Amino acid sequence: MAVTDDAAAIADEIAGLRHAIHAEPEVGLDLPLTQQKVLAALDGLPLEVSTGTALTSVTAVLRGTGNSGGPVVLLRGDMDALPVTERAGLDYASTHDRAMHACGHDLHTAMLAGAARILSARRQDLGGSVVFMFQPGEEGYGGARYMISEGVLDAAGERPAAAYALHVASAQLPTGVFSTRPGTVMAAAEVLDVTVHGHGGHGSQPHHAADPIPATCDIVLALQALVTRKFDIFDPVVITVGSLHAGTTDNVIPDSAHFLATVRSFSPESRERVRDAALRLVRDIAAAHGLTATAEFTNSYPVTVNDQTEAQFAVQVVTDVLGEGRHVSLRNPMAGAEDFSYVLEQVPGAFVMLGACPPGTDPATAPFNHSADAVFDDAVLADGAALYAELALRRLAR
Ligand SMILES: [Zn+2]
Ligand SMILES: [Zn+2]
Repeated sequence: MAVTDDAAAIADEIAGLRHAIHAEPEVGLDLPLTQQKVLAALDGLPLEVSTGTALTSVTAVLRGTGNSGGPVVLLRGDMDALPVTERAGLDYASTHDRAMHACGHDLHTAMLAGAARILSARRQDLGGSVVFMFQPGEEGYGGARYMISEGVLDAAGERPAAAYALHVASAQLPTGVFSTRPGTVMAAAEVLDVTVHGHGGHGSQPHHAADPIPATCDIVLALQALVTRKFDIFDPVVITVGSLHAGTTDNVIPDSAHFLATVRSFSPESRERVRDAALRLVRDIAAAHGLTATAEFTNSYPVTVNDQTEAQFAVQVVTDVLGEGRHVSLRNPMAGAEDFSYVLEQVPGAFVMLGACPPGTDPATAPFNHSADAVFDDAVLADGAALYAELALRRLAR
């Protein structure tokens, strides 16, 4: 029997787990109910299961009996929801206030558990070991980094030779179509947090004060000039100041001004350069006004970079297993960010998107991930689980 048949045979079970997780979504690093459901789904399988300390992660190792000294492959599924109030009106809709699986991580978790079941029944075909990485806190909490520091990359006793992650999309891709590209697949994202320090006073006598507002305005505009003058247009960066606050009324010069910007970049090199250049620009413009500024980058996710060979391999597996027409290449990287980037900084691998918009909707106009109206279709679950399993089987046989 083909792996796709194995997956089809447990499609209802995978969907059941997905619905149970969807109905009780949890946000952040602490997902006790989700962790319990994953542990229950893995119960009885021949896995070495461990759980996290700083977060409710689950790491499971399956050792093949085909070649016990073979290499290791890591498969990752993230498990966390978003602080969104669900509007989509599904039978298995969220029962938790202000929490929703609006990014489809419930599907990832269920597909990965399905792959663990499929591969457990095929241990004799596995030429090495598989690490299943069930990860909390993808949405801004850096859960992958915590799991790496707690040893997920060494869970099977040696570093994985390759790592793969799937991510569903509720729009933009047709249902059941996979998409990836070699090289950069997602942006680096970080927050630039700036406070310009002056000295308050009467609005009628600015020369007795040190006004932070004009300096802050200069900085905001200079950041836009920096983007256009210092970066290759084919390796772009984006800086958007999304929050800017100073003062309380018209005739009082405030002591300080504060702004937050999101900074996106698409290569490790331009990321380093934009970080250095932005900090220098903030400090030096403040100094030119006789002021000081504190500036730092927070909430950083690195660039998600697919290995050339592993990305091509993933495309080949999609085509071999599911047929021609089930992969479209991703023309440009996506401007979102992913903490699977931390895994790919250390292990060659591929991050692969999977279209999951529901039947009867147009991928071009369907609500996208993170929307309160986003809907992800169960029809992709079996193929997603099969692909996870085939990536491991074929990579360990390579
Ligand atoms: Zn997301
Ligand atoms: Zn996501």
